[in-house]
Amino acid sequence: MRFAFYGRLSTDDRQDVTLARPSQLHACERKVQTLGGTITADWFDVESGSHDQRAGLLELIAEARDSATRRFDQVIVYNTSRLARDRVDAALFERDLRRLGVPVVYESGGGSPLEIAIKQAIDEHERNQIKVETRRGQAQNIMNGYRCGGRAPYGYRLEYEPHPVASRASKGDRKSRLTPDPEQMPVVQDIYRWWVEDGLGTMAIADRLNSGAVPSPVHTNTSRNVRRRWAKSTIRAILQNPVYTGRLVWDRTDHSLKRERGGGGARRREPDEWVRSEVEHPAIITQTLFDAAQGRFHAKSRRPARKSSRVYLLTGLVKCASGHEPLAMFGASTRGYTYMRCDYGRSYGSSEAAAIPGHGQWCSVREDDLLPLILDFFEKRIFGAARTDLLAKQLDQLGGADADAQTRARLTRQIADVDTAVAAQVRGLEAGIDPMAIKARVDELKIDRATYEAALSVLAPPMSTDHGRLADNLARLPDLSDALRAAGPDVQREVFDAFGLRLEYDRTRGTARMSAAVDDALADVLAGATELTPSICTGGHGGGRIRTCEGRANAFTARPL
Ligand SMILES: [Zn+2]
Repeated sequence: MRFAFYGRLSTDDRQDVTLARPSQLHACERKVQTLGGTITADWFDVESGSHDQRAGLLELIAEARDSATRRFDQVIVYNTSRLARDRVDAALFERDLRRLGVPVVYESGGGSPLEIAIKQAIDEHERNQIKVETRRGQAQNIMNGYRCGGRAPYGYRLEYEPHPVASRASKGDRKSRLTPDPEQMPVVQDIYRWWVEDGLGTMAIADRLNSGAVPSPVHTNTSRNVRRRWAKSTIRAILQNPVYTGRLVWDRTDHSLKRERGGGGARRREPDEWVRSEVEHPAIITQTLFDAAQGRFHAKSRRPARKSSRVYLLTGLVKCASGHEPLAMFGASTRGYTYMRCDYGRSYGSSEAAAIPGHGQWCSVREDDLLPLILDFFEKRIFGAARTDLLAKQLDQLGGADADAQTRARLTRQIADVDTAVAAQVRGLEAGIDPMAIKARVDELKIDRATYEAALSVLAPPMSTDHGRLADNLARLPDLSDALRAAGPDVQREVFDAFGLRLEYDRTRGTARMSAAVDDALADVLAGATELTPSICTGGHGGGRIRTCEGRANAFTARPL
């Protein structure tokens, strides 16, 4: 029996496509094996909204129409929500295929038509529920004068009180209110005055605060701003947050349109659409001062976007980690040389950047100093005779360096447990259990699942544990190091992208740390190659970059610079 695999990823899933596709495919491959079949064709759609192109699915259906030439007899899908999240859509696609004589099989959650229909109903219900309930619940919180989740905005701290619902209070749940922070409040007031009365820019304000050694707000992701410096983006956020006028405001941006159109930016809601609290907290800034601050933002003519007249060979691949958290470096040309320059000064002020020992205002490194290191790296670690030995040595050294592995395994297991529990609930429907009871339980389980998935999504991508396959892939590559040296910048860049090259430059240590990846697809493409021609790495795989998180550890080195 021949199966077509169909997979789908929507941005709502918050999953990496490089992980989602193989994981859905592998699960389906196992299922197909138990059915005594093989996967003979596959399609995968990446969607960015609820009303979206499903180019892959439409292609699959088109091929299914011709029973003489189609390469498959049945379709395997991971679960009903992968076919389409909308119940009607999913049911229609399934019916279309059935009419063409091509039944749809689900890897999980399939089974009786009733089971499938219920699962589809739950998918749709969940989506509508999330939209409506979250907004309503959070709006209600706002109305009660409580702050929705997260930490207090800079200038305030949270004061806790027992939860107003007795049953939750007895469980130890608390609610929080905002109260001015005596140290941070004057800083916020200074920022507004400097902006409105002294006419300073956001960068000048950041500079002034940084030189006065006022600690900045702690970034939600503490690894991002370890030096605790003020960035102009922080200043801007403070100047635009109406919370300082004593009202809680929620829902200032609307992402729904972006999802439905499958792209574009979030819409900023009009002020009369904002959800505001009726119970106020103490104001730090008067409404007049706040309005004046907004006026200056509106008055500022929008500077034309920086023209990128040329694309640099290493743009987006190089980060500066010279005494601060890794930060992008951007290309710049001066006096005939191309440099990669650290972005730190542009975000935190040049004097702040200059204060980092050995860094300088515009920490930069010449492209033609980095390129030979990169080419050496490819020659030794990726194409050279000793590459598999070097890889083995390095994997030994890394040992259990994947610190998140255990957490990731636990979360993955918990998600699987939730799915099993949901399936059991759905089976309960057929056994005659009250649907309302089942819905309540499924709703709980869905929340658990969302929690685990959110936790999973912030972990670093897994390092490949399949070291054997990694070594195999590496060993299959022909020696293209001379070809890479001789290639033009366009081809070189394609190769760097295909290998997912990343470089971290540390001027204080004088090192450039590089990593790259070799996945199955790339090894397939390059295996028989004797030269590097344009698009060799990008063709044949639906275009675009071949990128993978797998095998990121396969080649890794620190070199003096
Ligand atoms: Zn830097």
